[in-house]
Amino acid sequence: MLTVRTVKHRLRTPLRTAWGTLLERETLHVTLRFGPGDWGEGEAAPLEPYDGVPLAAVRAALDAYALIDAPPEKLLAACRSERDLPQALAAIDLALWDRRARLERTPIAKLIAPDALDAVPVNATIGAEDRTGAAAAAATAARAGFTCVKVKVGIGDDGGRVAAVRAAAPGITIRVDANGAWTTPNEALANLRALAPIGVELCEEPVHGVEALREVRGESPVPIAMDETHAPGSGAADAVCLKITRGGITGVLEDAQAARAAGSDVYLASTYDGPLGLRAGLHAAAGLKVTRHCGLATGTLPVREGRIVLM
Ligand SMILES: [Mg+2]
Repeated sequence: MLTVRTVKHRLRTPLRTAWGTLLERETLHVTLRFGPGDWGEGEAAPLEPYDGVPLAAVRAALDAYALIDAPPEKLLAACRSERDLPQALAAIDLALWDRRARLERTPIAKLIAPDALDAVPVNATIGAEDRTGAAAAAATAARAGFTCVKVKVGIGDDGGRVAAVRAAAPGITIRVDANGAWTTPNEALANLRALAPIGVELCEEPVHGVEALREVRGESPVPIAMDETHAPGSGAADAVCLKITRGGITGVLEDAQAARAAGSDVYLASTYDGPLGLRAGLHAAAGLKVTRHCGLATGTLPVREGRIVLM
């Protein structure tokens, strides 16, 4: 039996977007019950301004899934043939992994790999769009023990802002994210050449699209990661950012395998997921033995020395 309820979560830091500031996040909490003491819970966390998927569409998919009568091992496939919506399937997948972890009394990370990591390196995200604010946020992150910060670029004064972050936190790893803001590979390359001397670990999604990414990567002084472009097996980027909302833990594991087979490194990030999505992301990262920093510090889990320890 599948039950769904809406849950509100507070974000660690307000999320500033083109349409306003998000302080709170709504997700859908899913419980799957197969029998007495046999259950698992999951979460769907679509973020419409980012992925274009409304919460109502996910809710409708979950309501349709609730009518399906299938044993646990066939449920995910049955749901996919009813409605192939990754954000909704993620909730089912998470609940199935959670159920298995409960039945086997083994953490999900260790179901994925017996020698899973017991802590995952995470980055702080700097939302400030001015030099002073970004510098202050970087100093705060460094004081809180973060060893990596992510800075948004492609929004103006990138060089000045990233340099201010570097000055405020000299030893920190700086990752930048353009969210595809640069429209041509040449524009991306000009910006990356300007940022490279500051010391940048990688640039997420400098441009959208496999071929454009491949072209940028070919000449970029900064390693390239793909995020919004979802082509993990293309080998077009040095690293691939994986997300639980794209098909749950199973989706992440499949994407990771494709990425690694194509020679790309992987790490995970949340789309401001709720606690269950973040926990799933941490366990997947630990099971995949991800060494790059993950964007999973968006909730309220404590960060120690730049890492979140798995519970
Ligand atoms: Mg990104």
